[in-house]
Amino acid sequence: MSKDCLFCKIIEGTIPSRKVLEDEHVFAFEDISPQAPTHILIVPRRHVATTNDLDPADDAIVGKMVRAAARIAAERGFADKGYRLVFNCNMAAGQAVYHIHLHLLGGRTFTWPPG
Ligand code: AMP
Ligand code: ZN
Repeated sequence: MSKDCLFCKIIEGTIPSRKVLEDEHVFAFEDISPQAPTHILIVPRRHVATTNDLDPADDAIVGKMVRAAARIAAERGFADKGYRLVFNCNMAAGQAVYHIHLHLLGGRTFTWPPG
């Protein structure tokens, strides 16, 4: 828990969110400014500022984040059609919240390369 972190506050419930799932290691909630019909953020309970700060001990948690995204995509019915998973890291990628989060975007077609 980092006391000034928005996503730590969402995980602990002091800032409200539309929760999608939670378990011992991972918390998922609806993005407040959705960029697709489904836009969910999957975060680790442990505060990690950027993907540059991941430890070897986080490997299993990152795997759980990705598998949680795939499970939600299946539940929402677009796993086979396709979806996008994104980690933004630091300023050039537009990271706005410094607690790592996996964006799950689905329900429409995505172009490549991204902006
Ligand atoms: P990023 O630019 O990768 O750091 O993404 C941060 C994401 O957090 C953006 O998609 C925002 O819309 C989202 N966001 C910011 N504040 C909240 C909030 N209070 N609840 C849910 N999502 C949020
Ligand atoms: Zn945090």
